[in-house]
Amino acid sequence: MQERPPGTECLWAPWRMEFIRDVSRQEAAKECFLCRAATTGDPGANLVVKRASLAMVLLNRYPYNNGHLLIAPLRHVAQLEELSHEEMDQIQALLLQSKKLLDCLMAPQGYNVGLNLGRASGAGLEAHLHVHIVPRWVGDANFMTTVGSAKVLPQSLEELWRLLSEAWAQENLPCLPEK
Ligand SMILES: [Zn+2]
Repeated sequence: MQERPPGTECLWAPWRMEFIRDVSRQEAAKECFLCRAATTGDPGANLVVKRASLAMVLLNRYPYNNGHLLIAPLRHVAQLEELSHEEMDQIQALLLQSKKLLDCLMAPQGYNVGLNLGRASGAGLEAHLHVHIVPRWVGDANFMTTVGSAKVLPQSLEELWRLLSEAWAQENLPCLPEK
């Protein structure tokens, strides 16, 4: 059996437990973290990078990789068919802007972009659809397997939130996403 580096398992355990507890708590309270993010007066506490008229971009509190963003409609809808054309357009525009911003700030070598629809897909929150955009670097998966989550957050979420929010709001950033 291949030996794991010390601490590998311990790095993931608290992380996932917190997520499971969070989801259970939300289900019990019929609370939705995306609805909370959609209406909050405190974008920082909810890691909201950009809130537009119909959709928003926020950092995933439980990222698969550094810079993992979620793009979601403001409305609590589960199915693609429930989105209006305008919502779909705005989600698409925000996805493109997010990708450009991540290109600019983090220079990833690739992305995983996608939707998990329905419980069987592994969606953590199936009732409020959201698009994942996960920056990737060559070798990051191997590195994750080797050293657990140690590399997942070279920056704190708060620090990354500040960086992304400020960059989005700046007018003269050389690689500013189109507004
Ligand atoms: Zn919701």
